[in-house]
Amino acid sequence: MPTATSIERETLRTLPSDAARQLQWGFADLYDLQMLVQSTRAVARGPVARLVASGGRNSHEWTEGKAALLEAFDGAGITAVFMNPEEGGLFAGPKNLALALVAFELAWVDGGAATASLAGCLALAPIHERGTIQQQSHYMKLAAPAQPGEDRKPWRGAFCLTEPIPYVGVDTGMLNGKVRIVEWQTGEDPVLQVEKRGRFITNIGFANFVTAAVDSDDERIKGSCMVILEEGDPGIFDRGTPTRKMVHQLSSTGDPIFNLRIPASRIVGGYEIKDGVIIPRYSHSEVIEAVFRRTRVTVGVMTSAKLLSAVEPIVRYQRGRFRGAETATPGSVRYQLGLQAREDSLHRLTDIWATGEASASLGFAAARTFDELDPLEKQMDSFYADRGVTGAKAKSKLLRDASDRAVALLQLPAGDERKNALNSDLLLHFVTLDSLADVLCPAAKLWNTGWGAQMMREAVSLMGGYGITEDCPGFLGNKWMDAQLEATYEGPEAVQRRQLSVTMTNPVFLAQFRGWIRKMRGIASEHPGTGACALATAMTMWLWTLEHLQHSKDAEGGKLYQSARQGVTFPLADALCWLVAARCQILDVLRLQEKGAEDASIAEGLPGLVNFLTDLCHVQSARASGEVARICAELVFGYNRHPAWDEEGTRGCWHQDELNDLEAIMPGINSYGLDVIGQNGSHPKKAGPCVNWASQQPFLTLQTKLSGCLTGSRLAKDRAADAISKLMIPEALDYPA
Ligand SMILES: Cc1cc2nc3c(=O)[nH]c(=O)nc-3n(C[C@H](O)[C@H](O)[C@H](O)COP(=O)(O)OP(=O)(O)OC[C@H]3O[C@@H](n4cnc5c(N)ncnc54)[C@H](O)[C@@H]3O)c2cc1C
Repeated sequence: MPTATSIERETLRTLPSDAARQLQWGFADLYDLQMLVQSTRAVARGPVARLVASGGRNSHEWTEGKAALLEAFDGAGITAVFMNPEEGGLFAGPKNLALALVAFELAWVDGGAATASLAGCLALAPIHERGTIQQQSHYMKLAAPAQPGEDRKPWRGAFCLTEPIPYVGVDTGMLNGKVRIVEWQTGEDPVLQVEKRGRFITNIGFANFVTAAVDSDDERIKGSCMVILEEGDPGIFDRGTPTRKMVHQLSSTGDPIFNLRIPASRIVGGYEIKDGVIIPRYSHSEVIEAVFRRTRVTVGVMTSAKLLSAVEPIVRYQRGRFRGAETATPGSVRYQLGLQAREDSLHRLTDIWATGEASASLGFAAARTFDELDPLEKQMDSFYADRGVTGAKAKSKLLRDASDRAVALLQLPAGDERKNALNSDLLLHFVTLDSLADVLCPAAKLWNTGWGAQMMREAVSLMGGYGITEDCPGFLGNKWMDAQLEATYEGPEAVQRRQLSVTMTNPVFLAQFRGWIRKMRGIASEHPGTGACALATAMTMWLWTLEHLQHSKDAEGGKLYQSARQGVTFPLADALCWLVAARCQILDVLRLQEKGAEDASIAEGLPGLVNFLTDLCHVQSARASGEVARICAELVFGYNRHPAWDEEGTRGCWHQDELNDLEAIMPGINSYGLDVIGQNGSHPKKAGPCVNWASQQPFLTLQTKLSGCLTGSRLAKDRAADAISKLMIPEALDYPA
């Protein structure tokens, strides 16, 4: 990272190049992904943008124009990303980062287009994650685009979990969809009757198959499962009426009704028969847990794209705001800078940009983590099979022991060779990475979409009235509304907070978190302009607060940190997200700086870009620290009862006669007395005597320290704002308005 002098010398010249982004987001060595980004971008800024600009979002119906996008996705290789080469896919190996990049490029222009593409993957995901080999091979091949010379249309899928109220929504256990056996001839596959109604089901306007969650309505079927329904199955496959949604109109959504007969071989993951009872290998919850764990990351990345895509249109609008007016003569500040002559305009844009950077870094970090985790999960399956470890109990004991060992190793000082086992030992590697993924996924979904939606409002507001018109360049008004859907579907914020409130207390994660604090201090000592030091202090405060709340009670003696106490656990989960996002942002800029220096193609302009992005890190770390301080202070103090002017509350107060007596031996003591009770029982006019902070003193020490750590953050914001005012942008946006 730059020194103060280099910051003065070099500043941002242009918007970050693809090469810089590849380094930041960790795919500089992955040529396949770089090509995929280019082909997806051509579809996004071509057919997708033209459809939006020509009013394609103004209808709820599934139109020819929207359907044509699916073919454009096929042609660009987007549909094939999800499959392996032997299934007609593009490349082998994990696909999380690839799918995140596709989502990012499409959502840069339109979230609905991104969703239309991703919903197909969501439909396949239960089969991919938990399906039998036969199911995987069959449906992946059907859903893959036709190869040259092949005359067939790829199958499209929908994922059907949510049901009409009062059933499945956030609470995915309240299933009304039913499955029962209608025919079972000896030695043959049982035939099942499936009844399921869906609510808000994406892709339903054209889906050829549906993966649906259902519960047993038959004592010969145990529990719940997911089943695969096909449009040609005997019975009712009613797509329902399209949802009159105000967002993501380029995707198809509706409330379908199914009443179909299917073979039991369509149970996702298969089944076994015990004592005449069908036992599905996976319950519907087990399947959706494996699915959402990955797909939610991609949704988080969609909102990041919106924020970063807003920068260029806003800069152009601000600069050109007064051009053409008599008073704005070419060469004048008003002509050159327009609204960018105003500090607030620049500062708010800086905040939007910084948020976009942090959220993209968090989203892509989560995707890369799952790419690392996927092969480990497969190795773990073989590991269990080799050792004959079966049953949830045996597995969880093994993982618990491994977690204890991992925590012990994570606590060793950096450089201790015993720590290498965290990478070389499969079990240790798995539990470490798994605990991280358990936090990164909900954090990316929660923070990127929830806070992203708030910041999209800021972006829209910077365009004035234009922002809320259909003519707004970059479709910012659409993106603001669309962000709210991203915060809602695949589980709204409460779901992510609930998950985080559990996973963030995993000792393996917390041991890594402690390591992050040390690492942030190390980074801060080498790169003081990043804000890493403030972040380390804020992380320490978060950890102190978590431990404090885990062992504290409220004024009524109620336990504070517990699942029913969402007022405690949820804000703390929010606070963690700010920290995790800012940390990812810093790490990405460091990678850019280190690797960029070795890459001649981006060497020019690199110091200026790194200086700018470093300032954004500082801005974001300061904001994150402030949020953490605010949330933690409220939680640490807010559950204590404020002392009142009653007997108990005033027990520690001075009485005026005592002070008067003491004044004789200690002149001046009267002026030190706070909360003094007068001779007639009077007291100062306020809520009660001030709180005694003894037990929270460590928190207050951290709070004071954290305030000091913010030193310089506003200077960084000033520098970033100044850089934005000098940034060169193209004459026009590269997609239509
Ligand atoms: C355009 C669109 C496309 C969709 N696509 C699909 C799809 O393809 N497949 C599919 O299965 N579903 C789909 N959905 C459904 C979506 O996943 C659900 O809408 C979402 O999970 C929320 O469920 P709900 O609408 O029933 O909200 P509710 O469950 O009614 O929640 C309402 C509010 O209450 C809060 N809340 C609920 N429970 C709790 C709790 N326990 N603690 C605290 N707060 C709580 C929620 O956070 C939310 O703020 C789609 C939805 C839309 C709008």
